[in-house]
Amino acid sequence: MGRRFFVGGNWKCNGTTDEVKKIVKTLNEAEVPPEDVVEVVVSPPFVFLSLVKSLLRSDFNVAAQNCWVRKGGAFTGEISAEMLANIGISWVILGHSERRLLLRESNEFVGDKVAYALSKDIKVIACVDKISDWRNIVIAYEPVWAIGTGKVATPAQAQEVHSALRNWLLQNVGADVADSTRIIYGGSVNGANCKELAAQPDVDGFLVGGASLKPEFVDIINSAV
Ligand code: PGA
Repeated sequence: MGRRFFVGGNWKCNGTTDEVKKIVKTLNEAEVPPEDVVEVVVSPPFVFLSLVKSLLRSDFNVAAQNCWVRKGGAFTGEISAEMLANIGISWVILGHSERRLLLRESNEFVGDKVAYALSKDIKVIACVDKISDWRNIVIAYEPVWAIGTGKVATPAQAQEVHSALRNWLLQNVGADVADSTRIIYGGSVNGANCKELAAQPDVDGFLVGGASLKPEFVDIINSAV
């Protein structure tokens, strides 16, 4: 299988400067597979992006948790893809269900954001329909009932949906994209349940919330090897 295992840590709206430094220290000291085996991307809140980027080991990448749908300007409170690129951030999470539910982001809006971020060379962790450049996309399957609830999908449930998504790619986009696109699982992944999930043929990694703030995130990074 040619798909590099992917582990994303979504810190959501958590952390103080001291807490962030502590998480980074744990990650910097962790023994993990080389980056051509497992790709690790952590996503702190915007205010900590530069700090994390400056302190984090260079084999891990940093993602923003959102960005604006087009070029910046008079959009109070928003952060543009250009700004992310300007401070050296190469990834963004778009279309997370928390934003869809709480901030009413529609498929259309998320799709436009994805297209804009890609056009600015920002890679995207997303689950949307309007994608033309699949090389820089990781798809996250995150059942809403599993996010932050402690109720994880069974390996069989995850495999079933991931394989259906891959099949959708095969039918609608093409064999190359279906074969190469990473489809990652999110929702109550932790150090105890990650290995069995990682063993599923169509589970190519994880998007981790709560456990990405804890040392067990290192076990999740190591779950595929
Ligand atoms: P969780 O969150 O791991 O805390 O369930 C996952 C996510 O929302 O990405």
